[in-house]
Amino acid sequence: MKNPWTLLIVDDSSADRAIYKRYLSQDPHQSYIVVEASYGQEGLDICKELDVDAILLDLLLPDMSGLQVLGFVQQHYPQIAVVMLTAHGDEQVAVRAMKAGAQDYLVKDQLKKDTLQHTTRNVIHQAQLQHQLRKNQEQQLLISRLAFQIRQSLELEETLNTAVTEVRYLLECDRALIYQFSKDMSGTIIAESTAKDVGSVLHQTVTDTYFQTHGAEEYCQGRKMIVADIYTAGLDPCHVDLLEQFNVKASLVIPILTGGDRHTPFTLWGLLVAHQCSSERHWRADEIQVMDALSIHLSIAIRHAELLAQTQAALDQEKALTAFKSQIIATVSHEYNSPLAVIQLAVETLKEHYHSLNEATREQLMDVIEKKTKHLSTLVNDMLLANQAELSQLKLKPTAIDLKEFLSKLIEEHELMGSDRHTLSLNVRGEIEGFVGDFGLLKQLFGNLLSNAIKYSPEGGHVRILLRGDATHLTCQIKDEGIGIPQEDQKRLFQPFSRASNVRSIAGTGLGLHIVKVSTELHGGTIHLESQEGKGTCFSVSLPKHLNATGA
Ligand code: ATP
Ligand code: MG
Repeated sequence: MKNPWTLLIVDDSSADRAIYKRYLSQDPHQSYIVVEASYGQEGLDICKELDVDAILLDLLLPDMSGLQVLGFVQQHYPQIAVVMLTAHGDEQVAVRAMKAGAQDYLVKDQLKKDTLQHTTRNVIHQAQLQHQLRKNQEQQLLISRLAFQIRQSLELEETLNTAVTEVRYLLECDRALIYQFSKDMSGTIIAESTAKDVGSVLHQTVTDTYFQTHGAEEYCQGRKMIVADIYTAGLDPCHVDLLEQFNVKASLVIPILTGGDRHTPFTLWGLLVAHQCSSERHWRADEIQVMDALSIHLSIAIRHAELLAQTQAALDQEKALTAFKSQIIATVSHEYNSPLAVIQLAVETLKEHYHSLNEATREQLMDVIEKKTKHLSTLVNDMLLANQAELSQLKLKPTAIDLKEFLSKLIEEHELMGSDRHTLSLNVRGEIEGFVGDFGLLKQLFGNLLSNAIKYSPEGGHVRILLRGDATHLTCQIKDEGIGIPQEDQKRLFQPFSRASNVRSIAGTGLGLHIVKVSTELHGGTIHLESQEGKGTCFSVSLPKHLNATGA
């Protein structure tokens, strides 16, 4: 409780003022700082300057009536208690004054010391209780408003901005802000409300790195942060250290904690801060309580926003997946029809004319069926693999692989498949031993690159495969002298179903390079493309010899 109280006597009689002053100075229960005014306007000017607790107000003043002064005080300083001083027989006016908001009235010529002391103490108590009650109601209203807004709004930014504006208004402080920590425990101010009259001073001296500067310390010197033990219970020790650092630097700082449910421990998300930089301020328990309640509501708003972001991300992924699946269906129906038609025709011919066909034609037809069936099977496998990659379901099954032998076999297979119209060569240099990888995925990876090099090269073209090894990595280059890839198409070719603009009638689904990229990345490697339209293409794949923790 404040002691001494500041009492203003507004009365044009200096003799009367002296009596009141003497009586009050003899109050054994309360001391006063007494300020005097003989005019109404003078009294109002004092109210503006000083933190006045009560006014003894004469009904008749030289420049205005006591009722006029009362009206003005009620309007601008509702927390000040007013006792009207009336003359004998003025009771009717006194009643009007009470109705207009005066706390009490005293009849001047019957005034006794005890009565004045008692009445003054009483009205100040009453006014303070009323003021406190009003504040509490406002605080409750603010908390309910914010809670309502949190339920209504999905916009975290909006909620945080409302919170700081309301806090500054309610606590009547210079500045309210919300500070958010990043993962490395540095942070930024993400919402702020500053009083206009101190704003310019603050902004000159206090920047966003406010907490780190000495200027801030000087500004808020002597004001204490209140961090009760309950806030720090269960927090990571580094968060507690951090909170302690703020202790000397800010006014009233309440941690905003998130988590704390069955699955996640409490985490220090940020701080709700109120500054009083223009004058000394002692924070009351109810003010701390209201900030505390707000910080809990803010934690809820933050949780809402996080959940919303997660749902949004899941929805986006779902959408991408649906689009991917539609593309698969479109491609399957397109790419399946023509080989199926060829197979069907070959089978029908064999069935109907088997005996009239010579041996060579029969074999030719069976070759066609085999080739097209293999093609369809590759297509299905590619789709399944791409789908698994999209769902992040691909897992590596690592085994030791001799990559030289692996590539030689792959080349042989391609030569057997009728690629004898191209020259395929393998050149190996350096330390290629000790490689570990997933056999199936590597087959997809190098099989696709090799088949592309053949497919997009003219007959008689040379495809060179160069394998280089050092202590930690293997690099394989697949170089052709084919149609090349236009510069503007090169970036997007690793996306599923992407094909370059110069493929003309060469068949393909645009899935191969996507599978190549996914397989390379799953091995912890990188892929690089160099190509010039009309001249040729070179893909370089670099793979670590040993899979790291994420790849395994
Ligand atoms: P598939 O899924 O049957 O392999 P595709 O060969 O069209 O079909 P990708 O292997 O993903 O699909 O290649 C994507 C595109 O990149 C090709 O359509 C082609 O335009 C271009 N491309 C890839 N490799 C080469 C290359 N060596 N030379 C020229 N263009 C290439
Ligand atoms: Mg391909």
